Amino acid sequence: MNCGAQVTQILTPPTVGSRVRIRRVAFELSYFRHACYLFGTRSNGRWSAPALLPRQRRPLVYFAQVKAGFTTCKHSMSNPVIVVHYHELWLKGANRRFFLGKLFSALRQSLEGVGVERIEQPGDRFLVRLRSTASVQAATERVRNVLGVAYFAVAQPVEQDLGAICRAAWNEVEPVLFATFAVRAKRSDKMFPHRVMEIEAAAGRYILDRLREQGRDVRVQLRDPELTCRIEITPGPALVYARKLAGCGGLPANTAGKIACLLSGGYDSAVAAYHMMKRGAHLSFVHFYGTGARPGESSLHVASALVRQLTRYQFNAKLYRVPFEAIQREIVRYAPEDFRVLLYRRMMLRIAQVLAKRERALALVTGDSLGQVASQTLRNLVAVDAAAEMAIFRPLIGADKIEVLETAKRIGTYEISSEPFHDCCPVFLPKAPALFATAPQLDDAESHLDVPTLVEQGIRGATLLRFKYTGGRVEITEPQSRAAAAQ
Ligand code: ATP
Ligand code: MG
Repeated sequence: MNCGAQVTQILTPPTVGSRVRIRRVAFELSYFRHACYLFGTRSNGRWSAPALLPRQRRPLVYFAQVKAGFTTCKHSMSNPVIVVHYHELWLKGANRRFFLGKLFSALRQSLEGVGVERIEQPGDRFLVRLRSTASVQAATERVRNVLGVAYFAVAQPVEQDLGAICRAAWNEVEPVLFATFAVRAKRSDKMFPHRVMEIEAAAGRYILDRLREQGRDVRVQLRDPELTCRIEITPGPALVYARKLAGCGGLPANTAGKIACLLSGGYDSAVAAYHMMKRGAHLSFVHFYGTGARPGESSLHVASALVRQLTRYQFNAKLYRVPFEAIQREIVRYAPEDFRVLLYRRMMLRIAQVLAKRERALALVTGDSLGQVASQTLRNLVAVDAAAEMAIFRPLIGADKIEVLETAKRIGTYEISSEPFHDCCPVFLPKAPALFATAPQLDDAESHLDVPTLVEQGIRGATLLRFKYTGGRVEITEPQSRAAAAQ
């Protein structure tokens, strides 16, 4: 706590333990000169538990004893601030605090090493206050990858003076081309003498006058304007911004439970993994590789480069690498040729399922897209699924390849998947693969295979890589032995 208050003890009611809440209180305090005014009443020489704040329905962290000398928190006038907005919809109800806590941690982890002074949460957005030495570009690149961020903006910090705020608003909107605009203000520092309506009217008039001087045909439109200039009166500097940058959207990382992804080196499965991460799932990865590759063409380096890139979104990940060629040879030897690829997929699902259970994952995800190749006809997908007990999610099932490639470019996996590599699936490819297999036909085709032993063989051969995102970089570690992979 650096607000200058002499605080001897901070009590936290058991239900209020999140970092977000504590930070919020620190922030709330900073714009009141007397903590007692905000946090409670004094009786018998002690500060008692607080009355609830007018805007709060939950109890807050409170000070048990606050001595005189409380001063306002100083925010630098020139340090850049990034205003981060999230989707509202899912933040309603009892889970709000959980999701906000995860988003807060994700912002903090993503921005590690960039030079963040602190992250605050005044109401329905986060304010990332950067140090004067921080690179704004590096910070925006990091925030761009944080799941759960709807949009964000680099704000101009200006002194709390209406004239200065109007000038800053004009600086923000002048370079942008638009036909309609609105000014929206928020005043979390209630010491500021002007009300929200006055701020909006003054800045709107100032901007409109200058636009007219320049001969620009622009009008104010409060509903659905092309450009919104936002003014936030926060403790310290006021913040002004108009140029929104798109975030990833979705839910914050690691809020929905665990899933295991069957990751090939191709475009689809990496994009499928991203889609699930964006809905809050935490993914572990399973990659099957062949040994017939020419030097430098193994799929292993592609799989690990993909996981390295995807780890940026969920902060840590595991990649299981399973040697698959011996298993394929068994299938080639004992099963009908036209079912080969489908039987490969069934074995992959079975092995991935065991590894998924080890990771306490509740489902599998693949990059299948309906009708993309012979193994992905509706009947074949259903016949393959019958071998798995776990739910299998296919987020790309209705996606076109063009859409998939666009997403791959956006999330940084396109270049990696474009590298040449030795894919194990086309090995021993049949001339005429079955298009309309049924589960009983595949069961029958597997009847000469010792399926449990092959699954066991795959699990025993698996090796593990661990990925961790810190300070803007992903570190990879490899446990020493295969036994370690089994942990
Ligand atoms: P692309 O179609 O862009 O080449 P893909 O990842 O979709 O890439 P497919 O051959 O279409 O590859 O395979 C369908 C799905 O089967 C994949 O999305 C993936 O989930 C799974 N799969 C295929 N090959 C492997 C593999 N070697 N290791 C792990 N999973 C695999
Ligand atoms: Mg595919």
